[in-house]
Amino acid sequence: MAKRRRHITYLWTWLWDLVVWWVASIVVLCTRGAYLAWQDGGWWAVLPPRDYADGETIWLGITLGHGGILSALAYGTQHDTTITEYHEGVHVEQYEAMSLAGCALGAVVAAAVCAIGHVAPGLALGAIVWVGAYPACLGASYLVAAARGEHIYLGSTFEEAARAVAGDHEG
Ligand SMILES: [Zn+2]
Repeated sequence: MAKRRRHITYLWTWLWDLVVWWVASIVVLCTRGAYLAWQDGGWWAVLPPRDYADGETIWLGITLGHGGILSALAYGTQHDTTITEYHEGVHVEQYEAMSLAGCALGAVVAAAVCAIGHVAPGLALGAIVWVGAYPACLGASYLVAAARGEHIYLGSTFEEAARAVAGDHEG
């Protein structure tokens, strides 16, 4: 991938990666015959090659945190970055930014609730805000696209940005 991930971002993304992406990757490994590839600071589950029917919509990749699932067609090498990998790499950057906002807001919420004497609920609420920021921002981008009359997914600002940066029309 063209851009290097910064491992320091795991400081504010580990909770989502731990409870969502790393669990999902194990499920994909066990059920779909995928293998894990450590690339650009994240785990990518690469699905085994398969034949595609004529006219079939070819699915190439999805980001699920610090990594995601890639079709065998979309997986390159250290020296050969595919457009899909570059596209998904933009989504990882977006994930890192949304998670940092969630982590900071979650810390404020947790501190405020703990300060009034409710430590366990405060920590739980802070964790929910932390991991909830990423799906909340994605969901908001889909709603805004729909409100603008655009395609709910292709018109979302995160998808438009990834396609603009990667120069692709996929994923
Ligand atoms: Zn995308």
